[in-house]
Amino acid sequence: MLAIREKPLKLLWLEALMRRLLKDDVEFHYFQEQFRRVDAGFAGEQKVDREWHEIICPNIFFVLHNLYLANAAQHTHQLDTLFMCPQFIFVLEIKNIHGRLDFDQYTHQCTRTKLDGTVEGFPNALTQTERHMRFLKTLFENYSLPVEGAVVIANPSAIITNPSNAAVPIFHLSGLHAHLQSLFKKYPQKLLSENQLTQLVQVLLSKQLIPQVQTAIAPSRFRQGVLCPKCSYLYKMYYHRGVWKCSSCHNTSIEIFAEALHDYRLLVGHTITNQQLRSFFHIRSSDAATRLLKKFKFSYTGAYKDRVYHLPENLLEYMKAFF
Ligand SMILES: [Zn+2]
Repeated sequence: MLAIREKPLKLLWLEALMRRLLKDDVEFHYFQEQFRRVDAGFAGEQKVDREWHEIICPNIFFVLHNLYLANAAQHTHQLDTLFMCPQFIFVLEIKNIHGRLDFDQYTHQCTRTKLDGTVEGFPNALTQTERHMRFLKTLFENYSLPVEGAVVIANPSAIITNPSNAAVPIFHLSGLHAHLQSLFKKYPQKLLSENQLTQLVQVLLSKQLIPQVQTAIAPSRFRQGVLCPKCSYLYKMYYHRGVWKCSSCHNTSIEIFAEALHDYRLLVGHTITNQQLRSFFHIRSSDAATRLLKKFKFSYTGAYKDRVYHLPENLLEYMKAFF
């Protein structure tokens, strides 16, 4: 069973921030770099996702994405991809990086050399995978399911040297199919029935933590309002008679409000009042703001004047129905 991988919260948050963060912000380049990294990571994971359609598996299997779980010590594990079948489970750490990767068998250090010659330590992928494997082994103790893991490099231009020195298998995405087939051979015995496997998947999903973005950015550091996508989000759009109009290129849109309110939810908060709506989106009339909030039938708490509207998690999808 294959589910569609959703954009992780961190990426949604960084996308919203990149649309709005002031260019002269002291941390602009830091967040831009973070955005590039997380965006490339997501693209790599999507590449891997496409491979599952080609996989010939002898039994039913599940592929779970972005599992966010806590271990007994309440430390978190974020699993990029978890493949589960009745014979074994297989955790994949996906890296969408370029350059040359070297493994040192004595120091267990992995270094990445970029095309421009810069060398950086890159210890995470292997130790992360081993850490996830230990966690999964404890989690599935009662089932005696073998736990396998691998680091998968999604960028075909990356060069992996001395991979045999690595503690867990590391290979290019093109090797995923062959690796899985070798696992099917290694573990031919079905240890779970289809029902047991399905239950196990459900238990795992029910243990999911709600991801949270830790960083809060002061609203003075980013552009507020509905921003014009045709002007690279540099100019504000103003609300007039139910339509948003760009102050620079005069582009008009009604639906753009959904994206802007989604940005608000990500960067500011999950609730909004009439006053906050007017202030953030520069709407002069309180009645117009009320009409706008009512249009989307958001659930609310509080009496008329200090009514607090709750913005649902799937805000973009939710608002589509009202345009
Ligand atoms: Zn514009």
